[in-house]
Amino acid sequence: MVAKTFRGGVHAHYHKEDTATKPIRKLPPPARVVIPLHQHTGAPCEPLVKVGDEVKVGQKIGDSSARLTAPVHASVSGKVVGISPQPQPGGRDVLSVVIESDSNETLDEHVEPRADVASLGADEIKAIIREAGIVGLGGAAFPTYFKLTPPPGKSFDTVILNGSECEPYLSADHRLMVERPRDIVDGARLLLKATGVNRAYIGIEENKPDAIEAMSNAGGEDDRISVVPLKVKYPQGAEKQLIWAILGREVPSGGLPVDVGVVVNNVGTAAAVRDAVFAGMPLVERVVTVAGSCIAEPQNVLVKVGTLVRDVIEACGGYSAPPAKVIIGGPMMGVAQFTTDIPVTKGTSGVLLLGKEEAAQIEPMPCVRCGKCVEACSMRLMPLWIASYAEAGRFDDAERMNALDCIECGCCSFVCPSRRRLVQAIRLAKSEITARRRRSGAK
Ligand code: SF4
Ligand code: SF4
Repeated sequence: MVAKTFRGGVHAHYHKEDTATKPIRKLPPPARVVIPLHQHTGAPCEPLVKVGDEVKVGQKIGDSSARLTAPVHASVSGKVVGISPQPQPGGRDVLSVVIESDSNETLDEHVEPRADVASLGADEIKAIIREAGIVGLGGAAFPTYFKLTPPPGKSFDTVILNGSECEPYLSADHRLMVERPRDIVDGARLLLKATGVNRAYIGIEENKPDAIEAMSNAGGEDDRISVVPLKVKYPQGAEKQLIWAILGREVPSGGLPVDVGVVVNNVGTAAAVRDAVFAGMPLVERVVTVAGSCIAEPQNVLVKVGTLVRDVIEACGGYSAPPAKVIIGGPMMGVAQFTTDIPVTKGTSGVLLLGKEEAAQIEPMPCVRCGKCVEACSMRLMPLWIASYAEAGRFDDAERMNALDCIECGCCSFVCPSRRRLVQAIRLAKSEITARRRRSGAK
């Protein structure tokens, strides 16, 4: 089959060789977890526990009555020793539940396998997904139950599972597809049922032949599910690019995948859906890629949500050299950190410890008007102008240049010979434009 792709994008050095062939290692529960009550798109949760309470693995410890939210659960059993604002990967402090582990891993009574999965209806599956606190595990952390319900007047005809994992260094999804292909396919079937759709595609970049083979074998007996090999190009895994590559459908400017009848979920999210529905297990752990030239033992680890990044680094042998930069996520879309005293959250796909040379690619210089950022932009935007307008505070002009269509893929920054911080500037423009629209009551 000919691998599919999209216009624009970049060919980055992938740096995945240190982790992509090693099996996922499950880390033991840490002595203490810090579980933020807001680690998703939508309203923050209110705590359902108080200091001194004993909690069990999978017990709901935070929830909200807001329409768009995701409950959070204890990832270890033990005692609640604090509920206070704690630093987060995003750079702000968030109200968090601190639990001291008793190392017993006692399961909450609600966590039990479900015998009647085949009889569940779409709404029941979505309710389980909501209660399990499942969010998009590709990094966006958008609540999955919400995504599975189309707005009035719209409908889905296709489910796409994103297994492209195009960010350099990251290989967590790759390993998951190799090691748990049947669970991902089970998750895909549940997503089909939840959306009332009969067609699912699993898009995987062709530099992961073992994952393509494993997923093809696992999905082979279900003719509703097809694996689609994709060309190796960043940002192949961005929703709009994925939909174009697989279906040839273009999401309209300012639109969403549902506008072309599609819902996209990450393969890790599908596995989490399977765990919630079949095993009754909420989202309390995830696979994280730990990589970069400054980590002693690069690998993929299965980590309890709330584990401090410094404990993850220690479990991977510690530093092999002092890192010049610590990034949560991938190098293209991730966020640089000032401390490792921050927890792994549901959206943490990677912990990168970059050396001087790797990090040096990020220092900015003046624009030389080469136009490479325009060429690389898969959304056909003018990154240099949007970023310049944002830096000058001319947000109306940035809006006129369709800043809101930016998917924050980072391609423009990646190809820029002057290493300009284009994405950061465009992000600023987007949040300012959105805030202004909200203030004026516009959508
Ligand atoms: S402008 Fe936005 S969508 Fe275009 S390359 Fe830059 S980050 Fe990606
Ligand atoms: S790639 Fe960088 S230097 Fe070239 S036009 Fe864009 S912002 Fe300017």
